[in-house]
Amino acid sequence: MLTITGLKKQFRVQGSVLPILDVPSWQVNQGEQVALTGPSGSGKSTLLHLISGIALPDEGCLEVNGVELGRLNESERDRFRASFIGYVLQDFHLLPSLTARQNIAIALNRKRLGLASGKSEKRFILEWLDRVGLADRADHLPGQLSRGQQQRVAIVRALINQPPIVLADEPTGSLDAETAASLTSLLLELAQAGGQTLLVVTHDTGLASLFPRRQDIREVNRIGRPISPRAAADYASREATLA
Ligand code: ADP
Ligand code: MG
Repeated sequence: MLTITGLKKQFRVQGSVLPILDVPSWQVNQGEQVALTGPSGSGKSTLLHLISGIALPDEGCLEVNGVELGRLNESERDRFRASFIGYVLQDFHLLPSLTARQNIAIALNRKRLGLASGKSEKRFILEWLDRVGLADRADHLPGQLSRGQQQRVAIVRALINQPPIVLADEPTGSLDAETAASLTSLLLELAQAGGQTLLVVTHDTGLASLFPRRQDIREVNRIGRPISPRAAADYASREATLA
């Protein structure tokens, strides 16, 4: 499902080069549910950006659901993301002037889901809201929902088109512990029901323990530690010596 080979990513900051990722090899199988852990600054978000085609690697190869991302141009990557990736972020990013149902409707791929009429579309969204315990909240604005409820709406929005891979970047980072645990269980259940591959960044070891597979990014990233400018300079000179 996901195969990473020889992946390297660096950022250029004020003239110096910061190496962020150096992942010789990593795989995630179809339907696997993985908690991606590691300290702040260890490259977790950057890795998700690369997997979703938002960012490009400097070297190496990412194959996602049979698609080699390096072969796609920008508009092909946009289409890849629309059909293959569901993305859940820490701060839900719901549109404040739209109701829960409308926030989901704008993400809906009607053709793919075979939704012919407005009526069947409405029923379809309401069924999803029911699955996440929000049946009676469809017409509420985000501001009328708790943070946990807003994240449920965002989860439906990310999953409703049944993308083969769901990425979530600290999706419960701004929620209290109890809400975080119930939302994580919900994500696991929904992904399992849909046969989706799930990759969730979290730095909460309790939440990570709910996943069948846990991966500390430092075990696969040779630069698996927060980077200081000094360390970056050392790395660069070592690379230069090797070259
Ligand atoms: P994590 O999600 O594990 O906290 P990130 O992937 O967000 O880590 O960031 C990894 C490192 O890359 C950090 O040192 C961060 O400052 C740096 N970084 C991320 N994005 C950029 C960017 N666009 N330009 C420069 N440095 C960046
Ligand atoms: Mg991050």
